[in-house]
Amino acid sequence: VSSLEPREDHRICVCVRKRPLNQRETIMKDLDIITIPSDNVVMVHESKQKVDLTRYLENQTFCFDHAFDVTASNELVYQFTAQPLVESIFRKGMATCFAYGQTGSGKTHTMGGAFSGRDQDCSKGIYALVAQDVFLLLKTTAYEKLDLKVYGTFFEIYGGKVYDLLNWKKKLQVLEDGNHQIQVVGLQEQEVCSVEDVLNLVELGSSCRTSGQTSVNVHSSRSHAVFQIILKSGGKLHGKFSLVDLAGNERGADTAKANRKRQLEGAEINKSLLALKECIRALGQNKSHTPFRASKLTQVLRDSFIGQNSSTCMIATISPGLASCENTLNTLRYANRVKEL
Ligand code: ADP
Ligand code: MG
Repeated sequence: VSSLEPREDHRICVCVRKRPLNQRETIMKDLDIITIPSDNVVMVHESKQKVDLTRYLENQTFCFDHAFDVTASNELVYQFTAQPLVESIFRKGMATCFAYGQTGSGKTHTMGGAFSGRDQDCSKGIYALVAQDVFLLLKTTAYEKLDLKVYGTFFEIYGGKVYDLLNWKKKLQVLEDGNHQIQVVGLQEQEVCSVEDVLNLVELGSSCRTSGQTSVNVHSSRSHAVFQIILKSGGKLHGKFSLVDLAGNERGADTAKANRKRQLEGAEINKSLLALKECIRALGQNKSHTPFRASKLTQVLRDSFIGQNSSTCMIATISPGLASCENTLNTLRYANRVKEL
């Protein structure tokens, strides 16, 4: 299926976002090997050497629902990814947005987990932009009569365990009841009444996520962070938007020489990202069987993968440099597989 043709259903949207070369890459004279020749095509230009030492460029082309170049703002990315799904949660839908990619490629920058969007230097991320639209829609005549209340949850999945980021990283049990309903027992659901309230939660959860870490990325790159905006009516679930900042997908060299803990982490992340791909594909193909039990990540997101009223978008973030080429190609191939029916 060509991504140039509009799809029948828009339940799965897969986009790619390229970040600019950073200062370190510029100093190291890393080469920018990614071009975005049109708004849905990504090209990777890899300089290779033949046996006789002549050099040639290997160009690989990938198509997506949308491809964002370095100048794209978070707002623009939002318009093509999460924004079209926001209204569905008012119609009892389950919406999900994933940020997938190598550590340092821009997942948190896009989602806005670290900055919350109040900082003058930083534009709002997807968390804040979704919240903004949720509170706008809540006041429209169509939806204000539903008398909905809005709640936020923020948790982390690390090594197959769930930790509440709104409650000092308390470890939580995940249970499946007789009706196949998944429950994260004791997860804090904080009522929010404004965008400001949501930003406060994001800030609290983000600081909790990185606390006690020597470097921001050491731990956060190895865990999935799930921020949810939940609508309830009369105390019952009405709709839910899950925004997921996934663990870094880079594997390889570091795993071989890494210690046992790192290896186990890596294996767990691989397992969950593989399960995620299969679950999204199952949603796209309207399959009756969804392998959500294969990982904790897909298990807690079960609601999002089943039912006729679920829609998903993925923002695959990529680094531009030659030094990241292998990880970038892995990201593009994964994103391609998610989309491909
Ligand atoms: P990740 O969460 O994938 O590990 P980050 O979001 O933390 O990556 O991004 C790494 C660094 O690159 C941060 O300093 C961030 O501000 C910067 N960055 C990421 N994406 C962009 C972008 N699109 N434009 C400008 N800077 C970016
Ligand atoms: Mg991050």
